Amino acid sequence: MRFISSISLSGLISALILFAQPAFALEKVTLQLKWTHAYQFAGYYAAQEQGYYEAAGLDVDIKALQPGKDVVLEVTSGKANFGVGTSGLLVSRQEGAPVVVLAAIFQHSPYVLIAKRFKENQSIQDLNEKPIILRRLSDELLVYLKRENISLSTVSASTPGMDTVEQLLSGKALAISGYISNEPYRLLQEKFPIEIYSPRSIGIDMYGDNLFTTSDEIKNHPERVERFRAASLQGWEYLLKHPEEAVKIVHQYAPQETVKKIEFERSKIQPLISAELVPIGYMNQARWEHTATIYKEAGALEKGFSLDGFMYDPNPKKDLTVLYSAFVSVLIALFLVVTIVYYIWRLNCRLKHSLSQVQHLAHHDTLTGLPNRALFVDRMQRAMLKARREKSLFALLFIDIDRFKNINDQYGHTAGDEVLKASCNRMMACIRESDSLGRLGGDEFVVLLEDLRSSEDAIEIAKKFQAAVALGVAVEGELIPTTVSIGIAIFPSDSDNEEGLFKRADAAMYRSKQNGRNSIHLYSEIPV
Ligand code: GH3
Ligand code: MG
Repeated sequence: MRFISSISLSGLISALILFAQPAFALEKVTLQLKWTHAYQFAGYYAAQEQGYYEAAGLDVDIKALQPGKDVVLEVTSGKANFGVGTSGLLVSRQEGAPVVVLAAIFQHSPYVLIAKRFKENQSIQDLNEKPIILRRLSDELLVYLKRENISLSTVSASTPGMDTVEQLLSGKALAISGYISNEPYRLLQEKFPIEIYSPRSIGIDMYGDNLFTTSDEIKNHPERVERFRAASLQGWEYLLKHPEEAVKIVHQYAPQETVKKIEFERSKIQPLISAELVPIGYMNQARWEHTATIYKEAGALEKGFSLDGFMYDPNPKKDLTVLYSAFVSVLIALFLVVTIVYYIWRLNCRLKHSLSQVQHLAHHDTLTGLPNRALFVDRMQRAMLKARREKSLFALLFIDIDRFKNINDQYGHTAGDEVLKASCNRMMACIRESDSLGRLGGDEFVVLLEDLRSSEDAIEIAKKFQAAVALGVAVEGELIPTTVSIGIAIFPSDSDNEEGLFKRADAAMYRSKQNGRNSIHLYSEIPV
């Protein structure tokens, strides 16, 4: 029972996490449209309805433009993160709005000049000196008229709230600016005869609706901008591939519009998107430069206006100086680490060396380098253990140079040192590797001879010492004759402990001194 309830509890928690996650994870962003809901924004609705925004981790609020509001201001003031704007974004940027265009949705502008058809074979030239009303941001139409040599003296700007279609219907204007998908529909409904003139006919061809944001949004949320842009374009792609669904989707957002009107809009706008020629959202520098030229000609942009930073770069080049300085920093850090490690290693080596030197000094005689008393005693203790275990014997030899004081007195202390060193080397040459030679101090040496068969072996080696030392040492061209007195004690027969052995070997050596020096005595043979 407990088991079942723990399963259902964990299942409930997982389900809660699963369902709660998207709600927590979605980031809220706002897309500000530049007009009331209409077909021209259909791709964004499709992105919403197909769940592309949600899949991109976004909760998008698609806002229609309220009367009296300005889309650029809504975005730059932070009320919205993204906006849909005309190519007039260039002018806003010159005026200080930090707008950046993310994608060109309409490859061509829907702005056209809509004129009353008042004669057969009417051309734009027939509008010369005729009353024309242009809306704000109709700079491309202004240039169009200029280039067609139409007098601008009869051109006036519409006032806010003015119904330009009404102006045309009433005859107050003979031509008005308009959106190809909008005003003509109403006029056709009224059965009003119209002629449409597009600036594209003379090569004035700029982008229509553009998706934009601000440089701050890109700087602070670069990855979110990319997600929003990609999901929006995906929505547009879907819409273009499924025209049969388009009207239905738009109608959900613009229920006030008739299906017929939406279909009319679609028929007019679809060719402007031109997605069959270039991918949806595509834009290039040359087109924007061309647009800037038109605005400059209309007097809306200054001659020196630059496009720098206006176009969004989805794959910004990595700043090489940043990469370079990061590389240099890594190199410096690496160099520092290697240097520090090297110095620590050297310090460690020196410390180890000094430590081993200190240890060596503590256990060796500085003049001859032989083991001192402490080390020698240690070796003797090991020898004792070994001999006890193996039931073998070893000999301890005490060796003292005869009349060494005389050598010092006659030849000097330095010559005495040389005699000590030479004697040590000569004796060293007489012993096996397993034997030990040590210096107790002064002219007194000790030898440990292991694995002996009998005391006779010790006497043999002692004789070798005598012979080796007797060769004498040449100091400043003079041969100094040297003899030694040797005493031998055998473990375990003479003593089975360290102190006893030392005493007995010393006593045997003393006996040799007494016997006229240059001689060898076994302790066991000293008469009691
Ligand atoms: P004996 O035959 O009785 O041994 O006479 P000896 O002159 O050798 O006397 P002893 O062994 O008692 O004295 C050793 C002397 O060696 C004492 C000291 O003056 C001298 N000596 C001790 N250490 C050193 C050393 O490191 N270098 C030199 N040159 N002389 C030392
Ligand atoms: Mg001596």
